[in-house]
Amino acid sequence: MNGKVWLVGAGPGDAELLTLKALRVLQSCDVWLVDDLVGRDILAFARPGTRIMHVGKRGGCKSTPQAFILRLMARYARQGRTVARVKGGDPFIFGRGGEEWAWLAERGVPVEAVGGITAGLAVAPALGLPLTHRNMARGVALVTAHTTDGTRPDWHALAASRLTVVCYMGMSHIDELADELMASGFAAELPVAVVHRAGCAGQRHIVSRLQTLAADVRRSGLSSPAVIVLGEVVTQACALQPLLAQCPPLLARG
Ligand code: SAH
Repeated sequence: MNGKVWLVGAGPGDAELLTLKALRVLQSCDVWLVDDLVGRDILAFARPGTRIMHVGKRGGCKSTPQAFILRLMARYARQGRTVARVKGGDPFIFGRGGEEWAWLAERGVPVEAVGGITAGLAVAPALGLPLTHRNMARGVALVTAHTTDGTRPDWHALAASRLTVVCYMGMSHIDELADELMASGFAAELPVAVVHRAGCAGQRHIVSRLQTLAADVRRSGLSSPAVIVLGEVVTQACALQPLLAQCPPLLARG
């Protein structure tokens, strides 16, 4: 088989956050299968004649079935084409990259991957937010609040861990999430930042505390895609200082 599939991470949306390798690989591909969190500006880098197919499947929206996308990738590769499966962020962080790689490899389709900046880490440079500030956190955990089988991360363990927690896919059930976290040992006063379209031109963000998170999100009108950053480190974010100044309880703790 001369064809091949590249799983390409496109970063959080801003075309300038693509890696040079991602750009080179994308420009070598005949077919792009593009997820809907991929920044539209990135499409301008396709070489003329590239077949671009949008196969986004945002939670709750009408979507292209995963099985169809898998078969499409294999079919093009068997025709000798080079296929880019272009994903927002990193293909292996809540991106099914592992499943897709395994499925293709089992069928003898050559696969390689290029990493991208995952949304949960893009918040750090976007806001000057030190996710692993050495006086406040022992590390950072990337978690999802939305799972196919309804299970949750071990919130109790995370509450006791002194890790900064970055939560993906948490916006649709923000009330439930905040309640669950508080019931599991996260402090009601814990500083939280919600960042919509982190690292992109349309970035918007708020700061809050766990107790008022759901109400503050509603008031702000922020929606998905957004990541929720929970931890004392939020108080150290340079770009959040003006917002923190309007939020006295947080400043008192900082
Ligand atoms: N593979 C992607 C994650 C896909 S899961 C990555 O590595 O970033 C989809 C979730 O990612 C969204 O619900 C949201 O929580 C988050 N997300 C994706 N892009 C984002 C962005 N630019 N800003 C904030 N959150 C984003």
